Amino acid sequence: MQPLISTLPLMQMASGDELSLQLYRFVGESPGKKVYLQSNLHGAELAGNAVIHRLIDWLSGLEPAQLQGEIWLVPVCNPLGVNTRSHNFSSGRYNPYDGRDWNRIFWDYESATADSSDAIATFAQSHLESEPDTIVQAYRQQILAAFQIKAVQLEDPPGMPVHELYAARLQTLALDADYLIDLHSSANRGLIYLYYFTERAAAARMFGLQFAALLDNYDGDAFDEAFIKPWLALESAFKALGRHLRLEIEAYTLELGAGMELSPVAVEQGLQGIQHYLSEKGVIMGVPLPTVETRELVMTRTSQFTKYFAPVGGFLRSRVEPGTWVRAGTVLYSLLCFNKSGQLPSLKPIRAEHAGLVYDVSINQAFNQGEYVLAVLQPDD
Ligand SMILES: [Zn+2]
Repeated sequence: MQPLISTLPLMQMASGDELSLQLYRFVGESPGKKVYLQSNLHGAELAGNAVIHRLIDWLSGLEPAQLQGEIWLVPVCNPLGVNTRSHNFSSGRYNPYDGRDWNRIFWDYESATADSSDAIATFAQSHLESEPDTIVQAYRQQILAAFQIKAVQLEDPPGMPVHELYAARLQTLALDADYLIDLHSSANRGLIYLYYFTERAAAARMFGLQFAALLDNYDGDAFDEAFIKPWLALESAFKALGRHLRLEIEAYTLELGAGMELSPVAVEQGLQGIQHYLSEKGVIMGVPLPTVETRELVMTRTSQFTKYFAPVGGFLRSRVEPGTWVRAGTVLYSLLCFNKSGQLPSLKPIRAEHAGLVYDVSINQAFNQGEYVLAVLQPDD
């Protein structure tokens, strides 16, 4: 099975150069779910590109009868972010034009207009007796109809600012998906894990990564959030009317290890996780998969993440590695602190507030006060 490849215009630069996205679309023999995957939305987060390459190879070796539905793959989905440098470093987390985080800009139907929540409640009321498939189809049309306003603005004056233009181009590809997977990594050095949303814990386990974190406190319009929040809002609206409905719509962000590298371990785990997920979901059928080494899966939630920031300026002299379990009171790291008060330099140890797993550490070993040093998670009970 070969992919359909299309090159899609993204935006034109002042120099006249055109930026584009390239989509690889595998279409199965029978209709089914649409799966959308992209990588490298943040400029330093490279590993997902290798995962998509491996997926293209893998899917190319399958027969169309082994795929039910479609799989859409968009590697290097943010050319501006991917190509940004400060000296040797890929620094493309923020758009230098307006300072925005590239993954906090996306259009979310749930909060797009003042009357969105009324529209969602009305929809639930009028579909109280409908079958889930009917609900998904009709609600998707409602979301796409609202998004048309963006599509029109893309073409006509007065136009729209860079972040909205970019978001609209990317979301045009993904808004009608059933399963959406956004491939990130740490910008620093981190473990391999994923973010999932409420009532999707069982499916999150299908990826078999080191840990899975429920997004129980959102911090903005990330790509996965903007996609799934309208669907979660619909499920809530049904719940308020007494109907419990878990729609077959899912979104995940995979975090594949360290930034600025394509670690073979992270690429392999990311690939295997996605293969197992697609297989368990019945998107890929009759394909034997390599058995995955059994890992103890830690379930947690983002409200149980603690980030540690340097309490004073200084230089790292010791630090626990990602993957270390610590107790409350364990020394997490120590800083070498110079001063301008006529004193000798000193070492300052920083201890863990709570027990947990160290899952991410900064690349830079020099810190101004308040800069990020490491992060610890507490598992669910
Ligand atoms: Zn990211």
